[in-house]
Amino acid sequence: MPRKRLLWQLYPSYVLITLLSLISISWYFAQALHDYHYRQSVSNLEARARLLKAYLINLIDQEDNHALNSICQTLGRETATRITIVALSGLVIGESDNEPDHMENHANRPEIQSAMNGQTGISTRYSVTLGLDMIYVAIPIMKEGKNIGVIRTSFPLATIEQTLRRFIVGIAMAGFVIALFSAIVSLIISHRISHPLEQLKRGVECYASGHLEHRLFVSGTAEIAALAEAMNQMAAQLDERIRVIQQQRSEHEAILSSMIEGVLAVDQNENIISINQAAATMFEVHPADAQGKKIREVVKNAELHEFALHALSGDQPLEGEIVLHNHVERFLQTHGAALRDAQGNSAGVVIVLNDTTHLRRLEKLRSDFVANVSHELKTPVTSIKGFVETLLDGALDNPHDAKRFLGIIAKQTDRLSAIIEDLLSLSRIEQDSGKIKIHLDEEHVIQVLQLAVENCVEKAKAKQIQIKLDCPDDLTAKINSPLLEQAIVNLIDNAIKYSDAGKSVHVSASVESEEIAIRVSDEGCGIEEEHLDRIFERFYRVDKARSREMGGTGLGLSIVKHIIRTHQGFVTVESAPKIGSVFTIHLPRAVPV
Ligand code: ADP
Repeated sequence: MPRKRLLWQLYPSYVLITLLSLISISWYFAQALHDYHYRQSVSNLEARARLLKAYLINLIDQEDNHALNSICQTLGRETATRITIVALSGLVIGESDNEPDHMENHANRPEIQSAMNGQTGISTRYSVTLGLDMIYVAIPIMKEGKNIGVIRTSFPLATIEQTLRRFIVGIAMAGFVIALFSAIVSLIISHRISHPLEQLKRGVECYASGHLEHRLFVSGTAEIAALAEAMNQMAAQLDERIRVIQQQRSEHEAILSSMIEGVLAVDQNENIISINQAAATMFEVHPADAQGKKIREVVKNAELHEFALHALSGDQPLEGEIVLHNHVERFLQTHGAALRDAQGNSAGVVIVLNDTTHLRRLEKLRSDFVANVSHELKTPVTSIKGFVETLLDGALDNPHDAKRFLGIIAKQTDRLSAIIEDLLSLSRIEQDSGKIKIHLDEEHVIQVLQLAVENCVEKAKAKQIQIKLDCPDDLTAKINSPLLEQAIVNLIDNAIKYSDAGKSVHVSASVESEEIAIRVSDEGCGIEEEHLDRIFERFYRVDKARSREMGGTGLGLSIVKHIIRTHQGFVTVESAPKIGSVFTIHLPRAVPV
């Protein structure tokens, strides 16, 4: 049901009360006036009767009815009063408004009867003689203690009622004016009461819609003004508290979202209460989509469900490991701890997920590296041991064989030393780049390239390979010359190693947009596409036998990659089998400090 506005509840009540008060007061005064007028008329008629009595008593006593009647008529006309003289028998002996002979016996009239009994008789009734409502007052005419007749004075009731009617009309008009005035005043008062309340209502609606910065206008009565002030204070406090809560919340969210560890809070019913960005990324979901959903709906991983259930059912912190099988396999170290509310009751569990995939990969790389190094070292060592044993077993006696075997031993020793040399330089670069020990200076690139080419000239000549150098003289870059030279030597060395005799190798450097590109291109055997991603790995070789044959260690490109990384650059390769390869070193032009 629609509720009425306060104004429409107050205003009609005010008007009704005013009207009722006016009507009842008018009615009371009309009654009082009527009574007063009636009493006044009665005492007036009685006074006239008493005056007449003194004047007429002798004529009545002498029974001079004719003179009596004519005096009654004269006095009646002059005083506008009907005068009636009645004998003890009830006969009318004098009358102002009629002929006594035509009038009936008045002995049965109540006022006459009272007067005959010696009392003043009063009566209000319809006069058959005059055809009007009249007030009658009759007094006994006493002479020497004896009642000799009755004098009755009267006049029409209409006279009183006329006066009364005039009064009522006057009151009604005044009442109408007062009612109109009070209606306007009540409208203003009602409006004054309801208007500040309306303002309060609008203000509260504003608060409800979240605008707590809004302030109510303090007006109206003391109570309403106090209420408005109290509400303003309440809104200010609420605003402040909400601001503090929001600030704390955003701080918590910022902490959670900046954490590398995934954080997942789950309630007793396995619904996700909170999930940070790291956890959402691990599970490949959006944090907002996961909120409030069952953990098993969001993450399709049995190990995680089992871990969450286990953590929920126990009181102790839990530790474990789960594997996520997304498009790449991820290893997550998990810690679960009970989540407690303010009263210390269990409210769920919080799971912290630590991505150990990288560590695992590093561990695997390390163990693979150790296995590779052992294997790489074992091959020449086994070979050396075998030939030494053969020599000791008597081959020394045959100088031709001995020379050949010693030659092989020397070659294997060179191989061992090359591997150890490469391993040492690799570890040195790694260590130095880790501690940022490598100094980069603005140097001319051509000088480095020339030194590298000179370094490889002998090897190139042996295979009739021509090395072409193409570099602007003024090109400079922030580099560590010995390291960059080593990287370029490795690339030219490979280009010579994997090219057939008579081919050519091209070394060039140029400025390309925001970088300096140094290219080593050859017309060699090229590399199949499937190997391109892996040739920079340690000990990775496309053709192991050929590499060994050429004296390769499988570490050359790995060293190049690390050297260029210390220059904040990177290496790329383009290659086509049987056509050739292009290795490009990309160096930044302005190295960030
Ligand atoms: P290696 O000592 O065996 O040359 P690298 O790390 O220098 O080791 O190179 C890794 C592998 O990449 C090589 O074994 C070879 O198969 C391939 N490779 C490198 N450079 C070239 C090239 N210029 N042309 C063809 N293959 C190459």
